Amino acid sequence: MARKPVLVTITRIPFVCQVCRAEQFYEREVKLNTTGMELFDMAWANQSATGLVCARCGYVHLFLNDALELWKPEHGYPQRG
Ligand SMILES: [Zn+2]
Repeated sequence: MARKPVLVTITRIPFVCQVCRAEQFYEREVKLNTTGMELFDMAWANQSATGLVCARCGYVHLFLNDALELWKPEHGYPQRG
């Protein structure tokens, strides 16, 4: 993958992989307007979601809100408070 992995927080709470607890992810936009989604006739089905792919195990975490905060690993997490 071309882009470097990032650290992720949600409302400044560090997010870790739900499988392997790794802290770095690749961000990918995920289109939701697929044929499968159209079956459900959902109003949000034409939106895009944010997929966070674990840099260690590859597990994809899918988010439909825009509360994600991405940080460069070399800078670490932001100061809390
Ligand atoms: Zn993982």
